[in-house]
Amino acid sequence: MAVSDSMASAAKSITATHSGHVKKTGKPVIELRDVWKVYRMGEVEVPALRGLTLTVREGEFVAIMGPSGSGKSTSMNMVGCLDVPTKGSVLLDGNDISTLQESDLAQIRGKKIGFIFQQFNLVMTLTALENVMLPMVFQGIPKEERVSKAESLLALVGLQDRINHRPSELSGGQQQRVAIARSLANDPQMILADEPTGNLDSTTGESVMSFLTDLNKKRGKTIVLVTHDEHVASHADRIEILKDGAVIKTKYNPNHKKAKVENA
Ligand code: ADP
Ligand code: MG
Repeated sequence: MAVSDSMASAAKSITATHSGHVKKTGKPVIELRDVWKVYRMGEVEVPALRGLTLTVREGEFVAIMGPSGSGKSTSMNMVGCLDVPTKGSVLLDGNDISTLQESDLAQIRGKKIGFIFQQFNLVMTLTALENVMLPMVFQGIPKEERVSKAESLLALVGLQDRINHRPSELSGGQQQRVAIARSLANDPQMILADEPTGNLDSTTGESVMSFLTDLNKKRGKTIVLVTHDEHVASHADRIEILKDGAVIKTKYNPNHKKAKVENA
């Protein structure tokens, strides 16, 4: 009950015009320290990351840009603790993930991090509601609570009248909104999105971006987003530009200067 009440009020505030959330200096959620990732393809070594250093703090909205093959997706795999570095360290909430068992890491990841992908990655045989419920199954949430929470999350993204539709019965933009709802299932502190608007037209992409921006500004979610698109990246407070597996430039959004100063 309490959960669905708070979700319902969140649903209201996300469409309201007030901006209640004030940014504060956050503690580091994820830190990549001199991370190297070398893929081995037979005899050939492919270095995807070459000394990537990146800190993402609580409440930040960070965009990662860079040419194709520059290591953006590989860096997201590191930020999301889906993969381990060849060299260097990854700290999640200050803990080096190399000290954790894979089963513990999977549990932490499932609770703390929500993922959104370019291809939506919904389960095609499940309804929107069942897709959103799925991550809660792995966290052992009772069925009734899963249903009511999934309903609230779908309402939050404006899909309350599509809960029994399967992905094939939804538009690309609607599927991505289901994926956003799913990413929120376990109340993660951080949302990672790899080219979330890559398969959407610009108007639909803009509406997806406005959901993500609201999640950051109004609900304090930490967001890391990969994009090719300058306009999409302009929603972020900070843009990290990668080349050859390392950050070559950091740009701060001039429109977010106040937040940056408050953060300093
Ligand atoms: P981006 O997302 O910026 O396009 P990626 O992180 O996907 O870049 O890839 C970085 C480099 O690593 C590329 O040269 C790519 O071919 C290589 N790479 C990525 N994943 C693998 C993999 N699983 N096996 C081998 N090489 C890979
Ligand atoms: Mg990629």
